[in-house]
Amino acid sequence: MANSSVYPQVPVATIGPFSDSPVQVTCPNCHQMVVTKLEFSSGLLTYLFCGGLLFCGCVLGCCLIPFCVNRLRDATHSCPSCKTVLGTYKRL
Ligand SMILES: [Zn+2]
Repeated sequence: MANSSVYPQVPVATIGPFSDSPVQVTCPNCHQMVVTKLEFSSGLLTYLFCGGLLFCGCVLGCCLIPFCVNRLRDATHSCPSCKTVLGTYKRL
C-alpha cells in the first residue's frame, strides 16, 4: 500500500543557499559534482551604493567604483561543465 510510484526519479537535492564564493554542488543537469563558476554582475545594491555616493557629493569618478567591486555585485553560479545556471546570489 506504499506510495511506490510517486517519484519518477530520485529527487534532485536542493541547491543552496548560495554565497559570493564558489560552492561544490551536484549539477542537476549533467549530474556531475562540480564547483560552481561565478560571474558577477551589477545588482541593485551596486546602483544604490552608487546613488549613495552621488548623494554624498562625490565626483563622478568615485561613483563608478562600486561597479568594479565584486563584493557589491550579484553573483551568478553556473555549472562549468554544461554551463547551466544553477542559481544566483543577490545582495538584497
Ligand atoms: Zn552541469
